[in-house]
Amino acid sequence: MKTTSNVLAGFGTTIFEVMSKLAMEHKAINLGQGFPDEDGPADVRAVAARTLEEGPNQYPPMMGVPELRQAVAEHDSRFYGLSVNWQTDTLITSGATEALAASMLGLINPGDEVVLFEPLYDCYLPMVKLAGGIPKFVRLDPPNWEIDPDKLRSAFSHKTKLVLTNSPMNPTGKVFSVPELEMIADLVIKHDCYAVCDEVYEHIIFGGKKHISLLTLPGMGDRTVRIASAGKTFSLTGWKVGYLTAAAELIGRIAKAHQFLTFTTPPNLQKAVAYGLAKEDYFYDELKSSMQAKRDFFRDGLNRIGFATAECDGTYFLNADISSIGFDGTDEEFCRLITTEAGVAAVPVSAFYQSEGARRNFARFCFCKREEVLEAAIEKLGDFFGETG
Ligand code: PMP
Ligand code: GLN
Repeated sequence: MKTTSNVLAGFGTTIFEVMSKLAMEHKAINLGQGFPDEDGPADVRAVAARTLEEGPNQYPPMMGVPELRQAVAEHDSRFYGLSVNWQTDTLITSGATEALAASMLGLINPGDEVVLFEPLYDCYLPMVKLAGGIPKFVRLDPPNWEIDPDKLRSAFSHKTKLVLTNSPMNPTGKVFSVPELEMIADLVIKHDCYAVCDEVYEHIIFGGKKHISLLTLPGMGDRTVRIASAGKTFSLTGWKVGYLTAAAELIGRIAKAHQFLTFTTPPNLQKAVAYGLAKEDYFYDELKSSMQAKRDFFRDGLNRIGFATAECDGTYFLNADISSIGFDGTDEEFCRLITTEAGVAAVPVSAFYQSEGARRNFARFCFCKREEVLEAAIEKLGDFFGETG
């Protein structure tokens, strides 16, 4: 048989699928793959059900239904003070994943360099490579995940087409600071390139921190693509409704790829998300505070067992230092061990690194679960490792 795509041949099955399968086989509590164990708002789901019944259920417009495009523009104005023309500056996609794919395919030419931060979310690298881009990694290390300004500067060159950022960042839980965002913006402007910002965790941010979109920084309006997702904001990860905001010129380029990828996204889900985005501040505040309470509860439990945990200012994820309890194997061995023997699944953070030299002593736990589930996981881990009190 002829060989299939060389670009994808080097990539195995995603770590999320691998760990979820192992968790299922061993009936372990799955704190690996990131998804909430309670579906989001009943009223949003009711709109999806009603509009499915009422129809029409035929192809919606390629750019997205007007209600949702308007809601995205209003959302961006309400939360970030952006002035967005919904008819030219927004695009609806099948999840942030498709938004990322369309952005890479729409913006990159073969041979262009793309700056990526490690640890990096699993689909970034294959998408950059499928588009013919050359990755340039900037590695962030636990437990503080700080950006080394010299390394960042040297990742950019005259060949840089874009930088892909993710704040709040999966898997680190890092929220990029204003000076860090300014440093990135300065380099993007200096090298006359673009920024694609994965902001799917924009509303899952803790300790009173405010999400700041790179799109709002001076000089970035024409060169930044902002990507968000209903999956995270409404705890409905299976819906796969994503949205982009960018200058009309960039949206046009990205839409060219989108029209040949999925073309569109189910109309009832788009209408329900439009309804959801207009929810009162109370909804957004409650999302933050309930996720923060889960983080605190789970972090306290891990700390009681003896695990040191890294900072987590946003996302669904908390990283534990496995060497802090005296485990001297790799993070991958640790995650397999706790899944098969302790009955709790996590994801090895080294799976999110490509370059040599990544630390192998951190495991990522997903805490967006019911309190009793987190409690049961802590109990199992405590029993297995022997709680130190
Ligand atoms: N980006 C990041 C950083 C993610 O964690 C995820 C996964 N939820 C996605 C993108 C994909 O989002 P979606 O499910 O909307 O495609
Ligand atoms: N975003 C989720 C995570 O980081 C996984 C999504 C997926 O499985 N593709 O766990």
